[in-house]
Amino acid sequence: MTGLSFHNVSHAYDDVEALHGLELSVGDGEIVCLVGPSGCGKTTALRLAAGLERLAQGEIRIADAVVAGSGKDLAPEERGVGLVFQDFALFPHMTVTQNVAFGLHRSRSTDRRDKVATLLKQVGLEGYGDKHPHMLSGGEQQRVALARALAPQPRVLLLDEPFSGLDVRLREEVRDETLRILKSAGAAALIVTHDAEEAMYMGDRIAVLQRGRLVQAGTPEAIYRHPGLRLCREVSG
Ligand code: ADP
Ligand code: MG
Repeated sequence: MTGLSFHNVSHAYDDVEALHGLELSVGDGEIVCLVGPSGCGKTTALRLAAGLERLAQGEIRIADAVVAGSGKDLAPEERGVGLVFQDFALFPHMTVTQNVAFGLHRSRSTDRRDKVATLLKQVGLEGYGDKHPHMLSGGEQQRVALARALAPQPRVLLLDEPFSGLDVRLREEVRDETLRILKSAGAAALIVTHDAEEAMYMGDRIAVLQRGRLVQAGTPEAIYRHPGLRLCREVSG
């Protein structure tokens, strides 16, 4: 089944065209990396899928059901998506447990405790539940953000430059760990990065955006032989 799909999606902010006719799908259990230089529309695609931005044109489906477009506009909490952003955005006044439990407000409190414990174990943070975000390293905070996004068992995970706030050495470690967790969760994952090598490493498929247009999509092997991604690497430095 298709976890997430964009059908002829276009979006503009006033007169700035951010996306033009985007066609892209992410299968269940698949990781697709969305790459391209700054300003090419990557974050816009994620925000539209999450329901944080109102869709102007086209259609977005999750688990083959329309969530935006064709007269539909589901609220973010009704879409079954988990979000991880660059700055992690943990609640500073809440403990790790409270942060992760935030996504589980509909569950009974005993279920919630068990679920949070399982999630913290899954991301390698057993015993961290009572700490506050400022007591954690960047990598640990990122894993809390991932646990929080996974808590409601979303069909789709959207990650926007999830490693760019981490220093180079930590980045590889957290990236490996995230890859393992995403694979075991089995959700459809769309990961935004401006780093072509990171995309080659993480993606089952890579989609290359330039100036709001999808210019290429395929497996890392297929993309590697094509000049499109090299161009994108030059632009992004
Ligand atoms: P990326 O994430 O690839 O860097 P974005 O999706 O954030 O790109 O932005 C795509 C384009 O839309 C850019 O030209 C950007 O300046 C513009 N843009 C993004 N968000 C807004 C906004 N809220 N208002 C106006 N323009 C925006
Ligand atoms: Mg962005």
